[in-house]
Amino acid sequence: MPEVIRSGRPRRSAEYLPKNGYDEKDARRRIGPITLALDRAYPRARTALHHENPFQLLVATILSARCTDEAVNRVTPALFAHYPTAHALAAARPVDIERLIKSTGFFRQKTKALIGCAQAIAGRFRGTVPRRMADLVSLPGVARKTANVVLSVCWARPRSDHGISVDTHVRRVSQRLALTKDDDPDRIEQDLMRLVPQSKWAVFPHQLVQLGRGPCKAQNPQHEQCPVLAWCPTALEARAV
Ligand code: SF4
Repeated sequence: MPEVIRSGRPRRSAEYLPKNGYDEKDARRRIGPITLALDRAYPRARTALHHENPFQLLVATILSARCTDEAVNRVTPALFAHYPTAHALAAARPVDIERLIKSTGFFRQKTKALIGCAQAIAGRFRGTVPRRMADLVSLPGVARKTANVVLSVCWARPRSDHGISVDTHVRRVSQRLALTKDDDPDRIEQDLMRLVPQSKWAVFPHQLVQLGRGPCKAQNPQHEQCPVLAWCPTALEARAV
């Protein structure tokens, strides 16, 4: 059974949920065809963040907060060249990191998180990115979404204990597909973990991200070009109008 997260945050209504709402029994009926259609449409879905090892992916994922993957990929070659290991980044001067990552936005907070995270990895994990969720989320600047990305890409289950990473695309698309009734990322993740087969937990969020960057954009979703149109309550409601 998937782990259960108890979030103390108050429930917010799901912004993109169709009017008929969420019905777990109906979601269970639709999830098989949905995952099949996603496998056919996006068989090679993966992270767009360039990386060569778990440390680089962790750094890139921290940098991707409120920033596009393309913008992160523009700064990481120089960052990784100057600071190839956790030990090297742990000893960096903040001003030097800020200069390298400035274009990704929120660069002071990100610099603090990157150096703090690297110092924790160097000091507590001998310079190696840990493989357990509890260890990863104990690092400065690392929340469950970031940990899920790193664990699922670098050590897919059963080699690690990742769940399903929930970013802004996964949140919006899973609401439109009525696979969750929540707006809180931790609760959305729990809903998805109850529905989606565990063997799909690594690839499923990357497929929803591709869907969200493609036909299911925030504005004017292109239902007719969508591979999961037949199982989408939002599209059915739009047709009925
Ligand atoms: S059918 Fe429309 S609303 Fe549903 S997932 Fe596809 S694009 Fe999004």
